[in-house]
Amino acid sequence: MSWNLDATSQNTSSASNNSANEAAAQLTGTVVRKSQGIYSVRTAEGTLACELSSRLRKTLIYPSAAPTSLRHRVKEVKGIGEVDPVAVGDQVSFHSAGPQRGLITAVLPRLNALSRPAAGNRRLEHVIVANVGQVVAVFAAAQPAPKWELLDRYLVAAEAADVPTLIAITKLDALPEGDAPALHAEMDNYRKLGYRVTLTSTVTGEGLADFCAALRDKVSVFVGKSGVGKTSLLNAVEPGLGLRVKAVSALTEKGRHSTTHLEMFDLAGGGQMIDTPGMREFGLWALSGPDLAHGFVEMRPYIGQCKFGLDCTHLHEPGCAVRAALAAGRICQRRYDSYRRLQAD
Ligand code: ZN
Repeated sequence: MSWNLDATSQNTSSASNNSANEAAAQLTGTVVRKSQGIYSVRTAEGTLACELSSRLRKTLIYPSAAPTSLRHRVKEVKGIGEVDPVAVGDQVSFHSAGPQRGLITAVLPRLNALSRPAAGNRRLEHVIVANVGQVVAVFAAAQPAPKWELLDRYLVAAEAADVPTLIAITKLDALPEGDAPALHAEMDNYRKLGYRVTLTSTVTGEGLADFCAALRDKVSVFVGKSGVGKTSLLNAVEPGLGLRVKAVSALTEKGRHSTTHLEMFDLAGGGQMIDTPGMREFGLWALSGPDLAHGFVEMRPYIGQCKFGLDCTHLHEPGCAVRAALAAGRICQRRYDSYRRLQAD
């Protein structure tokens, strides 16, 4: 990830003697932390505490709403202050507002974003993390037993945001021998669908080098329920990292809307990571019909091939190409069951 000072920042030192120039100097940086209306913006020269300009609050609530997006359909906006125009991971323009302080004036175009419904209003989108390199979906091999349907939810959300997913299995040492074949069969299936899988144990050290390599030089957004061994895994990546992340996540979970406190952590090996505790509905609430089927990569070849075309829900219609593929064994029943449950959501 890179962040650049634009041309005007070359004048920073001389501008400090000239208030007019200082006000005009537009800098760019990356939002690495967000807490109660204060955004930490990192530049090559350090990190500043920034607030939003009032103009940004007014004009950038829906910065890039496409005509088809649900944001455009919102007629009346209430509780608009809860929809934050700036997310962790955003590249922003800001200008100086005193020593180590800044005012964010614009959000630069996003490569991608993970979002969820705004608190109290499911018609509004709240972007949680922007410019994501990969989603890391963490599941324990055992204790607690993995819920693949939840993994499928994460995968669909990541597909919708066009972000790759790394499936990170932890606690391999806790897996009873008799359950190993089922786990490996499941992982082989996900690999065949194109997903990267790492199988790790912080007890035996198995898979940790692979996992560290998979994080290198990327912005990784972690998803997964508590108890899956995320803290131990992160501590194994880098001593102390798990505990630092856990401290922030505790604040996030305590927050009224789960999104009041988010932080991007640097990885010593290169790259960054962000934890998103308690967020299972990334992007999914806005998906339906063909968009939901599109999130299941194995269904894509059949979308539009059904008798009822894009109107087919692939649940009960005659002439459904997806269910024909299911019957022929080209789509596995378990993944199809996940699709059916998500349809019903
Ligand atoms: Zn169909």
